[in-house]
Amino acid sequence: MNLPKVATQLSDMLWFVQALNSGRYPYANSMLVDDRTKCMIDLGVGGSVLRELMNEVKIDEVVFSHCHEDHTAGCSFLPEAKFYAHRFDVDAIESVGKLKERYMVRGTDLEEPFDKFLFEALNLKDCRIDKEIEDRYFFDFGKTRLTVIHTPGHSAGHCCFLDPSSGVLFTSDVDLSSFGPWYGCADLDIDDFISSINKLISIKAETLVSSHKGIIRGDVELKLKDFLEKIFERERRLVEFLGKSRTFTEIVNKAIIYGKFSEPREAFVLFESVMIKKHLDRLMRYDSVTYEDGKSVAI
Ligand SMILES: [Zn+2]
Ligand SMILES: [Zn+2]
Repeated sequence: MNLPKVATQLSDMLWFVQALNSGRYPYANSMLVDDRTKCMIDLGVGGSVLRELMNEVKIDEVVFSHCHEDHTAGCSFLPEAKFYAHRFDVDAIESVGKLKERYMVRGTDLEEPFDKFLFEALNLKDCRIDKEIEDRYFFDFGKTRLTVIHTPGHSAGHCCFLDPSSGVLFTSDVDLSSFGPWYGCADLDIDDFISSINKLISIKAETLVSSHKGIIRGDVELKLKDFLEKIFERERRLVEFLGKSRTFTEIVNKAIIYGKFSEPREAFVLFESVMIKKHLDRLMRYDSVTYEDGKSVAI
């Protein structure tokens, strides 16, 4: 087996698999457990990388960190494997229709371009899940044990995976990107995201493996804290903007989260709206913002 050709060794049994496009969306990096049982965490590395990997190793099991298309798109390459996912994300992996409901595009003008992207560009398929997992479930692959850490916020069933013996933590889409946390779907919650990042900080892992940023070593705690801080930065900018009462459309057009809307603009406007709505709800819960005469204003 010649794994170094396609992957980077993280520990005795763990390998980092770099996705196409350096792991930028719509691709996502993976982690491979090369133990008695061979297991891949996520399948979004891209077809050519997956094919190369499969020439070197027969993958027995696949664990999905969550239901998003950039992490699951390769499932049709491995019809024989056993698939795992957190029970809260199973429906959106087994049914692309359910995933579209989470994105809130089903039955809207955005459904057609979404379908085109998901089915034609990503070749996304419904993927059967054989076993549901939950927080603290642990996998025993032989010498390697991976502990499941349920980290909702980015998706209801988002999970990270810790190898306690090597201190490697696969953080998936708690990805430490400069953009910051993403919570633009119906099933996501900012308070959950905050708790999840704090949970990861408390682990004091040595090495993080991010789905979109790769291997992260050194100052791990600080980097997670910086990532978390983006949520509060967005909130401060929002409260400042609400020094004057504003309609929801005015707030969304300000693009506090995205800065500017890339193409397809409608999709990014939708994500901005969903994320802003979650911030407004949160700020109202904490009595920092109120809503009157169709407008929001800071208190
Ligand atoms: Zn995701
Ligand atoms: Zn992702």
